[in-house]
Amino acid sequence: MWNRIEGHPKAWDMIVVGGGATGVGVAIDGASRGYDVLLLEQSDFGKGTSSRSTKLAHGGVRYLEQGNIGLVMEALKERGLLLQNAPHLVRDLAFIVPNYDWWEAPFYGLGLKLYQLLAGKYGFGTSRILSREETLEHLPTLKTDGLRGGAVYYDGQFDDARLLIHMVATAFEQGATLLNYVEVTGLTKDAQGFVDGVNARDAETGNAFRAAAKVVINATGAFSDLLRLKAEPAATPMIVPSQGIHLVFDSSFLQGQSAIMVPHTSDGRVLFAIPWHGHTLVGTTDTPIAAATLEPIAMEEEIEFILATAGQYLAKAPTRDDVLSVFAGIRPLVRATGVANTAALSRDHVIHIDRSGLITISGGKWTTYRRMAEDCVDQAATLAQLPEKPCVTHHLHIHGYHDAANLFGALAVYGSDALQIRKVMETGAQLAEPLHVALPYVKAEVGWAARHEMARSVEDVLARRTRALFLNARAALAMAPAVADLMASELGWDEITRGKQLAAFREVASNYVLHP
Ligand SMILES: Cc1cc2nc3c(=O)[nH]c(=O)nc-3n(C[C@H](O)[C@H](O)[C@H](O)COP(=O)(O)OP(=O)(O)OC[C@H]3O[C@@H](n4cnc5c(N)ncnc54)[C@H](O)[C@@H]3O)c2cc1C
Repeated sequence: MWNRIEGHPKAWDMIVVGGGATGVGVAIDGASRGYDVLLLEQSDFGKGTSSRSTKLAHGGVRYLEQGNIGLVMEALKERGLLLQNAPHLVRDLAFIVPNYDWWEAPFYGLGLKLYQLLAGKYGFGTSRILSREETLEHLPTLKTDGLRGGAVYYDGQFDDARLLIHMVATAFEQGATLLNYVEVTGLTKDAQGFVDGVNARDAETGNAFRAAAKVVINATGAFSDLLRLKAEPAATPMIVPSQGIHLVFDSSFLQGQSAIMVPHTSDGRVLFAIPWHGHTLVGTTDTPIAAATLEPIAMEEEIEFILATAGQYLAKAPTRDDVLSVFAGIRPLVRATGVANTAALSRDHVIHIDRSGLITISGGKWTTYRRMAEDCVDQAATLAQLPEKPCVTHHLHIHGYHDAANLFGALAVYGSDALQIRKVMETGAQLAEPLHVALPYVKAEVGWAARHEMARSVEDVLARRTRALFLNARAALAMAPAVADLMASELGWDEITRGKQLAAFREVASNYVLHP
C-alpha cells in the first residue's frame, strides 16, 4: 500500500478519511467505478462504531412504528443485497416478539407482516403469530410467567468487523489503496479556498506526508465535526453523538437458534437478545454523550438497565458475574432541530458539502452502507468533475464470497479464504492448536491476519480479525501472550515492541471486563 502511495504521480480522484463501514463502502464504490481512490484510517479498520454494532442487517422494525416507511424499505432492500453479495457473512435469523398481553399478538403480528411485505422480492422468512408452545420451542429459556405466545419475523445477522475486513479486501481488489494507522491531521486548500488534499501522519513511524485529491470525503463517523472544523473553523456542528452498549453472556441464557426482540423497554426503546458466535449478545442503549472517543466506556446505568431488562424476559436472570464482555459504540446521529432525545433522531444518512468542497457523509446504518456509498460517490464525482461512471455494487460480491461457507465450521466467516487457512493449518501441527478452550480460534488465524488482513497489533487480532475481546474479554486477555508471540514472528517485533503491544492490549481490554 505504501508503495502505491509513494509511486502515485498525480492527485487521487478521491481521498476517503475514515475506515469504518461508511468509508470502506465509499472506497469500494469509487474504485469499482474505475476512480482512483485512497482511504486513510487513523487507527484500525473498524476501530470506531463499525465493530460495535448489534450486528443486524435489518430494515429496522422500530422505524416502521415511527412511520418511516421509505427508510425501512430502503434498508430492507440493502439487507437483501447484503445477503446476496456476502452470503458467507450474513444469515437469516428468526426474531421472536414475546406477547404477555392479549392485544400484542394481533398488533405485532400485523406490523411484522407489513415489515415482511415491504421487503418485496428481497424478503427473508415469513412472519406469523406463534402459540405459547411454539414460542417456547423457539426460545426454551424465555420466562414463562404470563407468557401468552409470540410473533416471529426474520432479519439478517452478521459479524460487523469481519464483514468490514472483507470489504477492505474487496476495495483493494477493485483497485483502491487503503491504509490503517494513518491519521489525517489537516486539509490543504487551493488558491480559491477549495480542499485539494490532506496532510497525514503514519502512526507507526511518525512520518508525515501530503496527498493531493480532486475531492476529499469525510467518513469519520462520530468524529465528522472535528475534520470539518479543520476545513472551516466556523462550521456548525452536525453530529449528536449517542452511545449504545452491549453485554455478552454464554449461550445458556438464550438456547435455541432464535433471537428475542423486546419492542418497548422502560426507556421506550427496543432491546435484542441474539445468539452470536455461540454466545448471547444483549443490547442496546441510547445515551447522549458530550464527545466521541475511540474507546468509549459503558456507563453503570447502562449496564444495570440491560441486566434488569434482560432479567424480565430470560428464565435465568443474568447478573454482573455472568457478563463475559461489555462493549460500547457511538452512533454518529445527525443533528435535527426540535428533537428532544437521541432515540428519536433520524437514522437516515446525510451528505453534507461544506463551502470548502469537503464532503461529509454521516448517519445511516451499517445495513445501508452500500446505498450511502452510491449516493456519496455520485455527488463526489459531480463535484470533482470526474467522468460519469455508473455504480456497479448492486451485484458486486464481497471478498470471500461462498454460498455454502457453513461447511467450513469455525472458519465459516472467512468464506472461500477458509480453504487457504486450512492449508496453513496443515503446514505445522501447532498452527491448528486452539488459542483458548472457551473460543474457537486457532493459531493459524493470527498469521493469516498479519499477512493478508493488515492486522498490525495484538488488539487488531483479538478485537476485529477474531472477535475474542467482544465475546469473552478474560479469555482474550489469556490469549494475548500467545498472539503477541505469533505477531512478533510475523512482523519482526523485538522484545520491547512485544511488551508494549501486550501492555496496550491489556489497557484496552480492561474496559471490556466487568468487575463484580
Ligand atoms: C450501539 C450501536 C448499535 C448499532 N447496531 C446496528 C445494527 O445492528 N445494524 C445496523 O445496520 N447499524 C447499526 N448501528 C449503526 C452502525 O454501526 C453505524 O451507522 C456505522 O458503523 C457507522 O460507520 P462509520 O463508518 O460512519 O463510522 P465508524 O465505524 O466510527 O468509522 C469512522 C472511522 O473514522 C476514523 N477517523 C476519525 N478521524 C480520523 C482522522 N482524522 N483520520 C483518519 N481516520 C479517522 C475513526 O478511527 C473510525 O474508524 C449501530 C450503532 C451503534 C452505536
